[in-house]
Amino acid sequence: MIERKDFVRIGDMTLADFFASPLQNAYDWVVRTTSGTSEQGPIVSVMNLSSGSEERQGWYFDAERTIICMGAFNSRVLSALSLDKYGNPYTCAILAVDYRDLAPELTGIISDFAPERIIGFPSFLARLIPYISPEVGSGVQKLCLGGEMITPVLAKLFASSFPNASYCLLYAAGEIGSISETTCTYLPLNYYHPLRGVTIEILDPDETGAGDLLVSKVLHGGISIEKYRIGDMARIHKNSCPCGYNLAFESLGRKGHDYIKLVGALLLRAEFDRVAIGMKTLFEDYRVEASQVLDQRTVKGKIHIQVFRIGLPGTEAFTTEIADRFSRELFLTPSQTLSDLVAADVFLPLSVEFTNVPFEQKHKDVKLFLKIA
Ligand SMILES: [Zn+2]
Repeated sequence: MIERKDFVRIGDMTLADFFASPLQNAYDWVVRTTSGTSEQGPIVSVMNLSSGSEERQGWYFDAERTIICMGAFNSRVLSALSLDKYGNPYTCAILAVDYRDLAPELTGIISDFAPERIIGFPSFLARLIPYISPEVGSGVQKLCLGGEMITPVLAKLFASSFPNASYCLLYAAGEIGSISETTCTYLPLNYYHPLRGVTIEILDPDETGAGDLLVSKVLHGGISIEKYRIGDMARIHKNSCPCGYNLAFESLGRKGHDYIKLVGALLLRAEFDRVAIGMKTLFEDYRVEASQVLDQRTVKGKIHIQVFRIGLPGTEAFTTEIADRFSRELFLTPSQTLSDLVAADVFLPLSVEFTNVPFEQKHKDVKLFLKIA
């Protein structure tokens, strides 16, 4: 089995080789990183632009005005390079939006641009919606999304913000490329048919069939990847689909037992443990439930913590103290605490609840849960 940390190492070695002996045809290659929303941080990959170029071309450029919101500078460079290199037959304008561009003046820029298509990560699109007027939203014909699951909260927000848009969805990973075929219209959201030639398995499935997704694939250049634990949870469904394919997988998102990705932040079990250890005189054990909530046209993260303590009852002062300390001490991005993200309107204030009943122990010691409403 290959883990993400192995890919980080392979990426570093490939990059070192790449700089040590630059290629003749350097313009055929692009160096990019993944978004870094896993415990091992971003994976650096060196990618040949000619691989999968037709698929990418179709996705990106057969609209006149496309917004790209993938949050990373490398995606702008990649797009610009593919456009330039393959002599794009369409006249296509691209507005590439970065997280740092989310400011009031963006609304006017997007209105002037009048996008037909939006390509990006679902969570980034959710952050962008407050800057898109309803008139502009009705003009969007297609949403090309990937990289994360589309939760019911996001699906509802997208349907109301882009009433005329259809979906084009792809399950892919920066380091190994496409894993699914593009959207099958018969499948529910977050379900995908595996790309032909790609083998998928579930590692150690629980009672519902959910477990870590393992992907086996032969990459461009003949490198064979066996049982790569990509970092997402999934379930396999073997029903036959009207399109003729009898295998699908349901993506359950980047939700390991030890981390949850939510509204662009990363909730790490180790980080919760770190803060909890500092409060061990206050409680014995805890459980975290994370969810997305829709507040006007904005999706926000919500964290609810249950704490267990023996004997003494939990008073309001007690839960308030725990909530304050978790908020101040818990980092959800490399530089921002929960308090910072509450102040920035990305998360709702933390809620803490006391219980005097010990938590049920299951076969895995899971403390973080993502509630998908
Ligand atoms: Zn199908």
